[in-house]
Amino acid sequence: MKLTILGNNGPYPSAGGACSGYLIEHEDTKILLDCGNGVMSNLLKVCDVEALDAVILSHLHPDHISDLFVLRYTLSEKGRKIPVYAPNNPKEEYERLHYKNAYDIHPIEEHLQFNIGPLSISFCELQHVLQNFGICIEVEGKKFVYTGDMQYDEKIVDFAKDAHVLLIESGVLERDLQNNPPHLSARQACKFGNESNVKKLLLTHFHPKYRIDEFIIETINQYDGLLVMTQLMQTYKI
Ligand SMILES: [Zn+2]
Ligand SMILES: [Zn+2]
Repeated sequence: MKLTILGNNGPYPSAGGACSGYLIEHEDTKILLDCGNGVMSNLLKVCDVEALDAVILSHLHPDHISDLFVLRYTLSEKGRKIPVYAPNNPKEEYERLHYKNAYDIHPIEEHLQFNIGPLSISFCELQHVLQNFGICIEVEGKKFVYTGDMQYDEKIVDFAKDAHVLLIESGVLERDLQNNPPHLSARQACKFGNESNVKKLLLTHFHPKYRIDEFIIETINQYDGLLVMTQLMQTYKI
């Protein structure tokens, strides 16, 4: 599998940046995980929209779904309909995703499991202000897990157990935790990386108000494996 970072900011982009969007590719199969603002433009640098086999949304916050509201125009122009998997909560947001013949919308539930091409997809609900599902993708003995947005939730440890790559949100810094934010600090992300025994930990969902080196400083000596601060348009092998 190959992962390309199409957006790694939240809850709004930095100058020239984009919010959550991640392309997973394996042979001819292409899956877009989340579709925040700026993601469609970056996706087009890599592949055509109609090449996508599916879009999976971790949750329905705008920084994870905004570009789905423009991506639909090109799909409907081209007469291509693609499957979109999303939590159906909040109901009004879920209903808003429907558009003519662009999307085939399916609700995500805790124990839902299905295949897209050779890829096996499963989910785990993780604590956030909106219903949010972590997404696990497995193929040929390789395991990739993406958290979506989450605050402290030990369910991630079992769900991401022994993953080759865990793409984990790190939206805030330790000093923000006193305000009980709905996000993980970089240090908490490292803790879960260790407890899950993942081989490579990729941090994402960086708040633009911080410099990346502030996240780096928090993670020094915190994680036992290979730690990566994701970079826009960078590709990582899984
Ligand atoms: Zn977010
Ligand atoms: Zn969120």
